[in-house]
This record gives sequence, structure tokens and C-alpha cells, in this order.
Amino acid sequence: MTETTRRDEIAAGLAKVEAEIAEACRAVGRTRRELTLIAVSKTYPASDVRLLAELGVTDVGENRDQEASAKARECADLGLVWHFIGQLQTNKVRSVIGYADVVHSVDRPRLVAALSQEALRVGREITCLVQVALDGDPARGGVPPQDVPALAEAVAGSGGIRLGGVMAVAPLGEEPSRAFARLREIAQVVRDAHPGADAISAGMSGDMSQAIANGATHLRVGTALLGRRKPFVR
Ligand SMILES: *Cc1c(COP(=O)(O)O)cnc(C)c1O
Repeated sequence: MTETTRRDEIAAGLAKVEAEIAEACRAVGRTRRELTLIAVSKTYPASDVRLLAELGVTDVGENRDQEASAKARECADLGLVWHFIGQLQTNKVRSVIGYADVVHSVDRPRLVAALSQEALRVGREITCLVQVALDGDPARGGVPPQDVPALAEAVAGSGGIRLGGVMAVAPLGEEPSRAFARLREIAQVVRDAHPGADAISAGMSGDMSQAIANGATHLRVGTALLGRRKPFVR
């Protein structure tokens, strides 16, 4: 496939996503400016990230450090905001802090401590979102809703990192609107305690509109922009 047609393909995906966002905003009286579109580029090459940037995308998301760090290095000239959205082991924190501006997957005190320590060491300020396990099962990352306030407090009280808000993935087998409505309530509790922490990272290719209707501020969209990913083989 030539670079030109890949560009057309991504441009078409982006136009469709923007149309869906516009429609979802219109439906609930929100404006596009309230939303940040994060292009999730995992499994796709740095050349796609470059095309996304040419098409006006400013924010990209990745979920695996090894892949993300290489891509961020190749795309360092683009001035993009890099979002780390995957489960994060503490032994990867040093690397992630090297390129990520926002970490969406903060889900335990030990990770907060590691992020803080490394951010302070290198003199960067990293925005952290507390990932919420909306089904109460932390197996796929995230803390149960009842543990969110304490973890938010830990982030807010740590140097080098700032509390940005909350993140979640809609649980399988539940209507996304219901799940995102709960996330919105949890986000409100966090914001009441920490007024600057107003980010709600929710909504993927399949549930963008439901997320927008429930107050999302950050959409993490991969498939709808770049196409279906090949099954990942480790
Ligand atoms: C892969 C991924 C996305 C993007 O999912 P799509 O369905 O491809 O839009 C969003 N959030 C997280 C945490 C992901 O891992």
C-alpha cells in the first residue's frame, strides 16, 4: 500500500470519527472543544502517527512501553502529547516517564510512588489519571470505585505528578451508558475533593457517543481511525 492511499484511509477514518463526535456533542449540547481525541496507535507504525499528525491529530495513545518508547522517539519532532493507557509495571516507569505526558492507568499506591519518584528525578510534571475498574474487578487494570478517592489523594499529594482525573474502559457485557454514568459520578467525587482534576477519559471506537453523553473529556480511539488491529501475539 502506498503512503498516499494510507493517508486517504486515515483521513477518511478521522472524518468519520469527527462526524460521530460532532453528532454526539450536538445531541447533548456539548462542544467539540471540551473533548480531546487521543488516537490510539498501538500495533500501527510510526509512519501512521506521522500521518495522523499531518491530519491535525495532537494526542496519541499507546499501551505497551516497548512499542511506545520507540514510536515516541521516531516521532519526537512532531510535538505530540503522548498518553500511556495500558497496564503499567513499576519496572517500566522510568522509560514511560521519558516520553509520556499523561498516564491514564494509575491503579495502585506503589505505582504512584514510582511515577512520582521518577518524575521528580527527571524534573518532568506528568498528569496522572486514576483508572477505575467499573465492574469492581481489577484483573484488567483499575481500582474498584470505593478505592478511587484514596488513590486520587495519593496522586494529589505526590511531587512530580498532578492529578488529572479518572479513566475507565466500559466493562464487557454491560451497556456502556450505564457504566459511564457511574464513572461520571466517581469523577464528580474526585473533582469535589480536587477541583483541577476534571478529566474523564472514557470512550473508544465502539462507545464514543455514550461516553460523550456522560461527560467524557478524553476519547481513546484506535480502530475507527486506523483500522482493525491484527491479533497481538507476544
Ligand atoms: C486499545 C485501547 C483503546 C482503543 O480501542 P479501539 O476500540 O480500537 O478504539 C482505548 N483504550 C484502551 C485502554 C486501549 O487499550
